[in-house]
Amino acid sequence: MLCRIGDVEVWRILESNDPFKTPEELFPEAGPDVRDIIQAHVPGACCAQSGKLILPVQGFLLKTPDHLILVDACVGNDKTVPSMPEWHQRKGTRFMSSLAAAGATVDDVNYVLCTHLHTDHIGWNTQLIDGRWVPTFPNATYMLPEADDEFFSKHAGTAYEESVLPVVEAGQSERVSTGHMLGDYVSLIATPGHTPGYVSVLIKSSGAEAVITGDALHTTAQLAHPEWHFKYDMDGAQAVASRRTLLGEASERNQRVLGSHFQLPSIGRVRAKGDAFEWDAD
Ligand SMILES: [Zn+2]
Repeated sequence: MLCRIGDVEVWRILESNDPFKTPEELFPEAGPDVRDIIQAHVPGACCAQSGKLILPVQGFLLKTPDHLILVDACVGNDKTVPSMPEWHQRKGTRFMSSLAAAGATVDDVNYVLCTHLHTDHIGWNTQLIDGRWVPTFPNATYMLPEADDEFFSKHAGTAYEESVLPVVEAGQSERVSTGHMLGDYVSLIATPGHTPGYVSVLIKSSGAEAVITGDALHTTAQLAHPEWHFKYDMDGAQAVASRRTLLGEASERNQRVLGSHFQLPSIGRVRAKGDAFEWDAD
């Protein structure tokens, strides 16, 4: 178990922890020192051989007293992602082993919550069985942020067709908007910018609080530089505003912060510092 937030157990469901792209590619407007700044804040953040930022791809399994909720479904197996060779037609076993290590089977999961509909957050929504994409979690309702589903269903690419459409067609999806409560312990916070309907996830129980950032941030170095635009933020300015609000709230409320792509173990707290923030690893 990664941590306990009141009565809610949080388990890491790690799929991979590999070099992704260089800091210069990922933060193209952050200036020539971006690599040094990241390395100063996060020692070991970049792979010594390739120079690329090491980016975990993981979901979080929340065991509340009432439900099992998977937040984000990683890249998945057999998916068509030619633009990302490491993600293309993967045959990985770590995601499913992590789920088993958390004491869960695919039948046990009640909800799959997609923070947004990008490739590395929806993959295990479905599996390829006998040439057909079928929902991986047969008893789950898949929660899709409304504005993301609206956008990506109209601009449907392969990721949507392989990982979202099959759960919609199976009648297992539900569009959700901000503020939606998933049972008594989990709710969605609007943090648009990375995608139009992007949501972060708030866990509250017995006076304790935690927030799952998803892709509102990609490295804890962004706490010192919330103004950095990430290459894949669809609306950079809106993402900066959402990031500042999320970090401000996390520091004021002393929330545990679970960073979906932060260096492992991806958990800590945020403190306000000057006009920005700093990271306190757990
Ligand atoms: Zn991501």
